[in-house]
Amino acid sequence: MGYALKETEFRYRAYTEKGEWQKGSLTTNKNISIHEGSNVFHYGQALFEGLKAYKTKTGKTQLFRPDLNFIRINEGLRRLVAPELPEDLFFEAIIEVVKANQDDIPEYGKGQSLYIRPFVIGQGMNLGVKPSDEYLFSVFCAPVGTYFAGGLQALEFVTTDYDRASANGTGQVKVAGNYAASLYPRSLAKKEGYAGVIYLDPLTHSKIDEVGAANFFGITHDNVLVTPRSSSILPSITKKSILYIAEHMLGMKVEERPCFIDNVDEFKEAGACGTAAIITPIKSITHKGKVTQFGEGNVGPTVKKLYDTLVGIYYGDIEAPEGWIQEIK
Ligand SMILES: *Cc1c(COP(=O)(O)O)cnc(C)c1O
Repeated sequence: MGYALKETEFRYRAYTEKGEWQKGSLTTNKNISIHEGSNVFHYGQALFEGLKAYKTKTGKTQLFRPDLNFIRINEGLRRLVAPELPEDLFFEAIIEVVKANQDDIPEYGKGQSLYIRPFVIGQGMNLGVKPSDEYLFSVFCAPVGTYFAGGLQALEFVTTDYDRASANGTGQVKVAGNYAASLYPRSLAKKEGYAGVIYLDPLTHSKIDEVGAANFFGITHDNVLVTPRSSSILPSITKKSILYIAEHMLGMKVEERPCFIDNVDEFKEAGACGTAAIITPIKSITHKGKVTQFGEGNVGPTVKKLYDTLVGIYYGDIEAPEGWIQEIK
């Protein structure tokens, strides 16, 4: 099962009829039976999201910025020429699934959470390359621990000559195909003992794009938090939140600008961030055989502060900026 600690009982499914989303319902059936000619099998019309539900100290269940997942899934659906989801359907599915599986939400204090996976696929007989006539929207969930094994432990990454997405391709949306493309470079890095790969910008291979399926950030020697800006990066909600936390809660300067790999020693600390990765400190980046270390090979003080603030907000221990938390009652 990998990342999931166990399977849960209930999932939500909704379908389109004549291109319009219909109200869906919960089911205990883990299997989906669809036509062999479905677009998802051949042309990859598939998109996903990822968010988490957290239990607070007082036993509340809360979501972190789910409104941004809603906006992003519809950006992806537009890119795939699939019908956009109505807001009430998206939230009904998530809330119903969390409530139905509430016994599987890990309790406060374990560093665990309930990972929620919404996805949309194009289905139905469709042999020609064109958008599907029918779609499925489903949400399922699983309790999870940390994504990269070992908790807040600094990990080693290596750059790759492969790209996960092209400059004007689908890098900005969570299209399934991007992740199929990432499996081979990931496996090469793993074989060499690294935790994962650093993707460079596909046009020039001179700037840092992403850390596997997580965004990159660095802390310069004069304490500025920098994240790359690029057309092939998935716009991470975690990164957006870290930028806000750094600027408005920790009083740091922040910049979104190119991060040249040949100049990576401008950073004294670095990290990978995402819903699954949370904040994973980067111990080192190896590029063309040259190793650059960060945080003196450990978790640096600024990355630690960002992590503690973000995780404190997730679990309700630190007051969140307005609108970031949605309680599920
Ligand atoms: C999902 C994802 C991220 C992280 O995004 P969050 O919204 O923070 O979870 C980063 N990079 C890639 C490629 C992703 O798919």
